[in-house]
Amino acid sequence: MGKDVLTFGIIILLSGIGMTKAQEYKSLHRELKVVDGHNDVIVNSILKGKDISNRLDVNHTDIPRLKEGGVDVQVFAVWSDDKKWKTGAFQHANDQIDALEKVLAKNPERIQLAKNSAEIDQITKQGKIAAVIGIEGGNMIESSIANLEVLYNRGARYLTLTWNYDLPWVTSAAIESKTKSNEGKGLSALGKDIIRKMNALGMMVDLSHAGEKTFYDVMETTTKPVLVSHSNAYHLTPHFRNLKDAQLVALKKNGGVVGVNFYSGFLDKNYEKRVKKLYRKQFGNKGDYTLSASSQYEELTKEYKHEADVPMSHLLDHIDYLVKKIGIDHVAIGSDYDGIESAPQGLEDVSKLPNLTKSLLNRGYKKEDIAKIMGLNFLRILKENEN
Ligand SMILES: [Zn+2]
Repeated sequence: MGKDVLTFGIIILLSGIGMTKAQEYKSLHRELKVVDGHNDVIVNSILKGKDISNRLDVNHTDIPRLKEGGVDVQVFAVWSDDKKWKTGAFQHANDQIDALEKVLAKNPERIQLAKNSAEIDQITKQGKIAAVIGIEGGNMIESSIANLEVLYNRGARYLTLTWNYDLPWVTSAAIESKTKSNEGKGLSALGKDIIRKMNALGMMVDLSHAGEKTFYDVMETTTKPVLVSHSNAYHLTPHFRNLKDAQLVALKKNGGVVGVNFYSGFLDKNYEKRVKKLYRKQFGNKGDYTLSASSQYEELTKEYKHEADVPMSHLLDHIDYLVKKIGIDHVAIGSDYDGIESAPQGLEDVSKLPNLTKSLLNRGYKKEDIAKIMGLNFLRILKENEN
């Protein structure tokens, strides 16, 4: 009898410890200022007529799930495809900001546009989400500094110099990585003027998608810390979208920050192979093998999708690597939710972000360090870019 009571007592005690641990990460996550530096919900949901005021059963993001994920500051990426860069990308960018403004006007108690650090503080203190605008692609300024200023005035606080193609003033990683010689690569004279203008305005330069030559040209030109909003470590996953070790060292020297991207394909070099294998398993000879791995993923059953998604340990490995390489002050979060088809297991959508805090705790990160990764580093360089 006495022994049973003792056993019972131990079980209660152990489950008590378990509970505290479970609650510890939840309360820590609530305390943190959580900043996600990159999300494509405008293009992927809002422009397609979906109302993110309500919980959607598709895609990665809506206001209820942002709340559930404990997000305090969300950067909304404005993105326009390459076909429009000469004739309509600037208008397209403005249309997207209009569309975001409509969402904000409908939900003033939950989310509000922030144009600087002070506004972020005010908004988040009221328990609301601060919405920040990032322009993902210099195509949208149509080579005009006046257009850049218009977008800045509407709230854009970073410009990703270019997406996966070259512009007259800047070259991309997707194209640069195809040839060895540096001829014709990097920033033009106008490109350098654009960087100087961004420094003067207080708009962050975002070097995700930028080619290596562009990256180093910017490092020589900018007077402020840069952002690499959604990229990972090339050493672990050799993809042109990720940063090589020498780039990381230069980023640290500049005082900049890299936001880890949640895309399975940038976190695991075997992702595409895995998708293709699962696709074959599901469709046999009936499959359309001309489809890209991304499109094949969309056709997979829920179970196979989950199997294709990278285990969260890969994301943590990238964070560990970056922190070891450049230090805790230079790593942040840039999920790329709604711009990617596959996110890590356990981080299936934005509502799951507390799981990242939990995993960082489990990997032995101190609370102060988790706070830096989850938001403070991004906020620091935003402030350092302000005038
Ligand atoms: Zn991107």
